[in-house]
Amino acid sequence: MERTSRIPGFYQLPVEERVAKVAAFAGLTEEEEALLRSLDGLERETADRMIENVIGALQVPMGVATNFLINGRDYLIPMAVEETSVVAAASNGAKQARVSGGFTARATDPLMIGQIQVMHPAPDAPDRIAAGKQDIIDLANAQDRVLVKLGGGARDVETRTLDKDMLAVHILVDVRDAMGANAVNTMAEACAPLVEELTGGESRLRIISNLADRRLAEATAVFHRETVGGEEVVDHMLDAYRFAALDPYRAATHNKGIMNGIDAVVLATGNDWRAVEAGAHAYAARDGYAPLTQWEKTPEGHLKGTIRLPLAVGIVGGTTKVHPAARVALKILGVQSAGELAEVMASVGLAQNFAAMHALATKGIQKGHMRLHAKNIALTAGAVGEEIDRVAEQMVKENTIRVDRAEEILAKLRRT
Ligand code: NAD
Repeated sequence: MERTSRIPGFYQLPVEERVAKVAAFAGLTEEEEALLRSLDGLERETADRMIENVIGALQVPMGVATNFLINGRDYLIPMAVEETSVVAAASNGAKQARVSGGFTARATDPLMIGQIQVMHPAPDAPDRIAAGKQDIIDLANAQDRVLVKLGGGARDVETRTLDKDMLAVHILVDVRDAMGANAVNTMAEACAPLVEELTGGESRLRIISNLADRRLAEATAVFHRETVGGEEVVDHMLDAYRFAALDPYRAATHNKGIMNGIDAVVLATGNDWRAVEAGAHAYAARDGYAPLTQWEKTPEGHLKGTIRLPLAVGIVGGTTKVHPAARVALKILGVQSAGELAEVMASVGLAQNFAAMHALATKGIQKGHMRLHAKNIALTAGAVGEEIDRVAEQMVKENTIRVDRAEEILAKLRRT
């Protein structure tokens, strides 16, 4: 079978057939397929080990986005999200990008920053840290032999004078395929006494920074003028982008749309979405809050988009290997490194942003969104079983997708 993420009509297939297609694409075992089918990704014992005071688990639907071609490779992308239309929009954006060759993505080395806060340092503390840099690096690396053996570890030490009496010492750590917080926090705590000794100050906080601006992922794609809908639509989309570039009220929503897609992949793969969110928005705010994407017109009149953001995500560590459904999600993705995972996520963010801007600049998002949301409204109105589809279809037909109308349709249905 050709290994392609372009699967026309995927959304119309029954769940069972979708699972079979994904299993064939990713070479899943029978157990992995069964896990997806059962919706029962997490056993009580595993959940009880993951956090404290466990009483149950909350399930969120996991879908796969189709059509993604990234650096010439096809991906089916697992997305765990409760919001209607996110997976459809990502798949649609990817389909349009595919026409011009898909996404080109890259990630920097996975450098995370460990911060040590130093109070009342000596006036020449930055020089003393610079002189003792190698000792700090060696001590940090002594904490994590595994990471060093894999080619990672502490790389550099920097200082930032924050106030007369406060210095931040940054340890830059290559965390390879991990998200890295535990690894970096351990190093920061271990190095604090040496930093105190060197600076003549008192160390206080010792923790990773979520502004992971040394660990960036970038993706670009060109959306062909004709697929986008012609020159006017391209221009309207560029105006939509300028709106976000000029106005933080719009930029926040622009970036929320981007994170709709990215968070869903972060969650599906067992990664820490709070860390990714914190990093994304802190990065967006570095020179005044701004969009995480840039859009421009190519000389040929096509629409070119670029996204750049920090993505502290791993394929080892944290819960990536602990949560059975996250393990399957990573297998479906087939990524070989944390950098490749970040490249995929950046591409999803760009596809998502394209789809949202396209809808907003043309027909508005409510038509498509509410059509997909109609079943949720039917459920809210109390529909069960076959009633759900019938109520939803009737509301779509009438173009009135509201709970009060769903209740009326349902009442009528039950009378007949
Ligand atoms: P971890 O400690 O579970 O795994 C990382 C370790 O795995 C490394 O230190 C290394 O020894 C080992 N390892 C094995 N193979 C590796 C490879 N190929 N590449 C890199 N390391 C490899 O997890 P972590 O990634 O250090 O920390 C992530 C966890 O920290 C997440 O669960 C996150 O929620 C949590 N956390 C986050 C914050 C924050 O973001 N502010 C703070 C505290 C904890």
